Amino acid sequence: HPEIWEVILTGGDPFMLSPRRAAELTRELELIPHVKVIRWHTRMPIADPARVSDAFVSAIGSKLKAVYVAVHCNHANELSPAVCDALSRLADAGIPLLSQTVLLKGVNDDADVMKALVHRLLRMRVRPYYIYQMDLITGGAHFKADVKKGIEIIRALRGHTTGYAVPQFVIDAPGGGGKVPLNPDYVEEVRDDGVFLRNYEGRLFRYPLVPSATDGAIPAAAPEWTPAWVDR
Ligand SMILES: *Cc1c(COP(=O)(O)O)cnc(C)c1O
Repeated sequence: HPEIWEVILTGGDPFMLSPRRAAELTRELELIPHVKVIRWHTRMPIADPARVSDAFVSAIGSKLKAVYVAVHCNHANELSPAVCDALSRLADAGIPLLSQTVLLKGVNDDADVMKALVHRLLRMRVRPYYIYQMDLITGGAHFKADVKKGIEIIRALRGHTTGYAVPQFVIDAPGGGGKVPLNPDYVEEVRDDGVFLRNYEGRLFRYPLVPSATDGAIPAAAPEWTPAWVDR
C-alpha cells in the first residue's frame, strides 16, 4: 500500500511493548520508503510513567521518520512529577507531543478545569490536540457529558487563552464515520457585503467577502492605519 504515508500505533496501548519489540517495529517501519510518519497513541506516560524509560524512548526514536506521540490525559491532577518526567524524556528526545482528552462528566466538563489542563500540558511541551465526546461504551454512562458543555469549553478557551492551547472538540461518529469537529459558531451572517463575525468578546465585525485591492493596503506614512475590519 504505497499510498500509506503515516502509520498510527494505537490501542491496546502500544507503549506496553518492551523496548526491544518497539525498536523492532520502528526498524521495520523505517524500511518502508513511503511511510514518512510514525505516530504512537498511548496513555502509558500517565498510567505508568516508569514504563516510558530512556530505553523505551530511544527504541521509538528514528533518524529516518518523523515520530509523534499523542498522550491521553484527562485532568491536570494526572500530571504528577513522575508523569512530567516521562513527558520530558519524550520531549527531550525531540519527539513532538500531542494530547487527547475525553470529556468526562464531573471530571473535566468545566472550562476552568480544562483550561488548567491545557496550560499544564503546554508547559510539559504537549500540544493539546483533541477533546473527545466519549464513545457510547457499556458501563460508561455516568461519565457521559453534555455535548453543549464541550462546545462551551472551546468558546471559553478560544481568544481567552493562547491559540495553540485550544484543542479540537470532536465526536467520533459511530459506525466508522470518522471524527466530526464541533465548533462554537463565530459566523453571524454571510451576506453579499461581507461576512459578519462575532469575536470571543461578543463584538461584531464585518469582513468583505472578496477584499478589494485597497482593502488592507497600508499607507506608507500612516502609523494610525485603520484596518479593513469595520466595527458595526
Ligand atoms: C482518531 C483516530 C485516528 C487518527 O485520526 P487523526 O484525526 O488523524 O488524529 C485513526 N484511527 C482511529 C480509529 C481514530 O479514532
